[in-house]
Amino acid sequence: KGKRAFIAGIADDNGYGWAIAKSLAAAGAEILVGTWVPALNIFETSLRRGKFDESRVLPDGSLMEITKVYPLDAVFDSLEDVPEDIKANKRYAGSSKWTVSEVAESVKEDFGSIDILVHSLANGPEVTKPLLETSRKGYLAAISASSYSYVSLLKHFLPIMNPGGSSISLTYIASERIIPGYGGGMSSAKAALESDTRVLAFEAGRKKKVRVNTISAGPLRSRAAKAIGFIDMMIDYSIANAPLQKELSADEVGNTAAFLASPLASAITGAVIYVDNGLNAMGVGI
Ligand code: NAD
Repeated sequence: KGKRAFIAGIADDNGYGWAIAKSLAAAGAEILVGTWVPALNIFETSLRRGKFDESRVLPDGSLMEITKVYPLDAVFDSLEDVPEDIKANKRYAGSSKWTVSEVAESVKEDFGSIDILVHSLANGPEVTKPLLETSRKGYLAAISASSYSYVSLLKHFLPIMNPGGSSISLTYIASERIIPGYGGGMSSAKAALESDTRVLAFEAGRKKKVRVNTISAGPLRSRAAKAIGFIDMMIDYSIANAPLQKELSADEVGNTAAFLASPLASAITGAVIYVDNGLNAMGVGI
């Protein structure tokens, strides 16, 4: 029987979420997607109009099918948490049931259960500011959108995850090494995400036999990365200095996610898996 995956954090065909969806679909999984509410309209329209058809092609020539797209804002756990200005916001008022608990509830109603949960989202409003210039509000917003969002997703989806299931998030080496330019508390948010991966692996493993891992990915020219502003430099740096001197493709991260979600990885949990052409292992650039 095929597996069912819920992937949070897809709004176009350029990011890691899309590549993970493709690798999981190629391996036979049914794909459900959670898309950030403000990006939902354009994503669904583009999907419907065939704008992504070229990048929907799977290795066997068929097109990836997305069974359902759910609106999602992972900084809100339930309707009571949503402030009035957001409720009144046109882009949000056009959709409903997009808080984390409501999305999990909808997926349960629609499909009963899932096997794979992917968190491929992050947001840090002050990411371009050095940590020393980051406000409390900006720091907490980065942690809320990029770290607690994962705790919340797993908390609400775990009850509908089948035993043997797998949960995956995306992290970045700025959590453990100094990457100037990855500011606004985003380095802190990734450190929290990696630590939480271990604790959640214990709790979800004991509770539901669900595995929890995170992929520490190298640089990719996604929409989010372009907003940070130094992505081309990071890609050039990696090609110049990593053990494998090639540009990282999103598919390489997607394939790792498919492996981690599969029984081939049945003893891997609580791990940070590097998919970065080996750059993390270097001590100096050379
Ligand atoms: P992306 O732009 O494709 O994905 C980020 C997604 O997060 C977007 O679809 C955005 O709409 C969504 N999002 C933001 N706030 C949200 C919220 N409150 N609720 C729901 N969705 C929200 O970019 P990406 O680079 O593929 O990012 C995916 C993950 O990969 C992130 O965790 C990122 O930190 C991580 N990562 C990226 C790189 C890189 O170089 N691109 C490197 C390492 C790790």
